[in-house]
Amino acid sequence: MKTNILGYPRIGSKRELKKACESFWAGKTTAPELEQVAAGLRLENWKLQKEAGIDLIPSNDFSYYDQVLDLSLSLGVIPARYKSLQSDRLSLYFAMARGFQQDGHDVIAMEMTKWFDTNYHYIVPEFIKGQQFSLFYNKALAEYKEAKHAGIETKPVILGPVSFLLLGKEKEDGFNRLDLIESLLPVYIQYLKELEQEGVTWIQIDEPFLALDIDERTKELYKLAFDLISSSCPQLKIILTTYFEGLKENTHLAVNLPVEALHIDLVRCPEQLDDVLEQLPLDKGLSLGVVDGRNIWCSDLEGAANIVKKAVESIGKERIFIAGSSSFLHVPYDLDLETKTEVLSPEIKQWMAFAKQKVQELTVLKELTNETIPERAKQALFINKQANYNKQNSSLIHNNEVKERVSAIRPEDARRGKPFSERKGLQQAQLGLPLYPTTTIGSFPQTTEVRSWRARNKKQELSDAEYDRLLKEETKKAIKWQEEAGLDVLVHGEFERNDMVEYFGEQLSGFTFSQNGWVQSYGSRCVKPPIIYGDVSRPTPMTVYWSTYAQSLTTKPVKGMLTGPVTILQWSFVRNDQPRSVTCQQIALAIRDEVCDLEKADIKVIQIDEPAIREGLPLKKADWKSYLDWAVSSFCISSAGVKNATQIHTHMCYSEFNDIIEHIGLMDADVITIECSRSQMELLDAFVKYKYPNEIGPGVYDIHSPRVPSVDEMVFLLEKAKKVIPAEQLWVNPDCGLKTRGWTETKDSLIRMVEAARVMRKKA
Ligand code: GLN
Ligand code: ZN
Repeated sequence: MKTNILGYPRIGSKRELKKACESFWAGKTTAPELEQVAAGLRLENWKLQKEAGIDLIPSNDFSYYDQVLDLSLSLGVIPARYKSLQSDRLSLYFAMARGFQQDGHDVIAMEMTKWFDTNYHYIVPEFIKGQQFSLFYNKALAEYKEAKHAGIETKPVILGPVSFLLLGKEKEDGFNRLDLIESLLPVYIQYLKELEQEGVTWIQIDEPFLALDIDERTKELYKLAFDLISSSCPQLKIILTTYFEGLKENTHLAVNLPVEALHIDLVRCPEQLDDVLEQLPLDKGLSLGVVDGRNIWCSDLEGAANIVKKAVESIGKERIFIAGSSSFLHVPYDLDLETKTEVLSPEIKQWMAFAKQKVQELTVLKELTNETIPERAKQALFINKQANYNKQNSSLIHNNEVKERVSAIRPEDARRGKPFSERKGLQQAQLGLPLYPTTTIGSFPQTTEVRSWRARNKKQELSDAEYDRLLKEETKKAIKWQEEAGLDVLVHGEFERNDMVEYFGEQLSGFTFSQNGWVQSYGSRCVKPPIIYGDVSRPTPMTVYWSTYAQSLTTKPVKGMLTGPVTILQWSFVRNDQPRSVTCQQIALAIRDEVCDLEKADIKVIQIDEPAIREGLPLKKADWKSYLDWAVSSFCISSAGVKNATQIHTHMCYSEFNDIIEHIGLMDADVITIECSRSQMELLDAFVKYKYPNEIGPGVYDIHSPRVPSVDEMVFLLEKAKKVIPAEQLWVNPDCGLKTRGWTETKDSLIRMVEAARVMRKKA
């Protein structure tokens, strides 16, 4: 039996890699200095795992930016626009990741998108017709040798050839990227061959798509690819690795591919074990992903040990690996760094495990299968049982009032009193808006100044009273300016908020935070997700103070601004002791209370943002419906407590919405503002077939760029929208919130946007 780790976090426990990269990008440090930091982080990880006694320690799990980009570069999948940068590997790499505007170069970055259902983003490989591959750099070999040099034998980790193609995109018409397999394989095999020649024994090839919906053709490609790989590299012991879903209907295919062992994710899909055990050929090993790579809770060691026992009884100890369910990339480094009890209470902390603690869990699980169990493992098991018992029964987690409220939810709680057609007139009577009403998405620029007030207030260098006064000043300026600019529905600006989820998490019960719980989101960007540990409720109003203050300054309507239940759920670490749907309903009730309080405080328009609703979509299509049902219903629970005359808005951005458009309709928000301009209103295609029933504001300009759009451009986009959506249903707004922009371009852009609405009204 062996312990097996699929990948380790790489940003450094104190975000050293982030800092080193950013300082290199700013030209403050040299490439060798950056490389030294990186080598230090790799060595630290390897040593930690070796000292813990892990058998299969990953290498090549490190990346300066992203592991998919690493493979693109290694295999020479380098788009032509970067050719002039090829002389320097590191500059080339970062140019592909981030774009490059300097020394006469002006090349844009490659596209980035979410890695399966995680909040990690990978760089999308770009393929062209007749794509050539060539071994540009053997990164896995370099890192294997580096570890070996330090006396550590590792298992290189490489993304598999089929998943690599599937993750990419065709950048021109007239071919299918899967056709490239035949030119890719020789180079991919050359890459592996060099590892084999270096003496590598174990190697991990990740093929996450094996656990997703794949068609017959892809299945054939898997056979073709792995037949060729295994016959070309007979000395390599391949662990074919899947995660984030169960093999299910692909089990037969996966267990029969010619590899040494198969890895399955038993946290996400424990049900697959029986099938796999039954079908696994006698000569094959099985890696049991029993320690959660996606969440921060301790394992149930006894439960995991029972899974291991069952597998041992079925196929024998020799063939078993005990593993993390996926790479530990998605969890923070080390719980021991959480020292402030006022941030993370000791009671909750004992229920948790970050990467380093998960490494310990794996070694304990292995020891628990020994003939005579070492004292150390017995002790660890005892502590773990106690922690889990305490968690199950803790009064910190369980709030019966919340549970009863959730079970008492009736279908009518998720429905507005009257249909939109009747609500519309009532809302119009109290709002009196013109045709093509203008609004923004919520936030106004979070200047360095505003952020410094918050930082100083946190350290109590700025008193609460002074902080409050400064924020009020800022809000007042924003309201006055919006009035002058002629916007119709105003916002207070969200100056008091750090982040749209954290701000609410800090005020809701059932949430906690960490000091150092950073995970990589993309490149050097790291996030510290809130942790939902218990039943969620709202002790006191959260936004009424700022919304009523802003409303008191103007006679125009000011939108109340909330984050929706699905987005709060999606961007947090969640409980693993109840279904996500239940946690989401609890959050929905808390938001509903806030919505009703805003209405009571005379706020007539309330926006509930749900930018993350699409990314919560399950990886397998068969599971979409049940997710969409509870996600939509949670939104409805949060919004439907108000009178018909109160106008509910929602907002979504940066996702592919076309395939869930009908469910967006079922959310029944009176108005949806939605990001659209980057794709020149591609979204509108969906509205040709589907008649969106309520009002909609397709974003008319991209907020990611400081560029100020012209009135004509925005009029053009509105004209385009008008062709598929009747003018009476259209709103005029930017793509998303403006917090990352400066004031100058924000003002210029919005003045022109208001002008574009006026042009449209004149034409009507
Ligand atoms: N109301 C938020 C803002 O304006 C919405 C942000 C988002 O969609 N991500 O910043
Ligand atoms: Zn947005």
